[in-house]
Amino acid sequence: MARITVKVEPLHADGTACDHAVSPSGKPRDPDSGCTGRCSYRVWCSSCGQVGEPHGLRVLAEPEQSRHRAQHQAQLAATR
Ligand SMILES: [Zn+2]
Ligand SMILES: [Zn+2]
Repeated sequence: MARITVKVEPLHADGTACDHAVSPSGKPRDPDSGCTGRCSYRVWCSSCGQVGEPHGLRVLAEPEQSRHRAQHQAQLAATR
């Protein structure tokens, strides 16, 4: 079974993933990057895809990330 990664991914206002460099305030560092700024954060699982609804703040997405990762660990333990 492939290793599952669960990560928090920043999103633009239109729902596309943001992999641009941004300053701590959330503004894009490079004005020419086409980045519209980070609007929300979603939990992304390499096995399940998007987990739940996007969150307005990274700190709100992190507990969901931990919870989802723990669910997979429990599943793995159960099939062992
Ligand atoms: Zn961006
Ligand atoms: Zn998952």
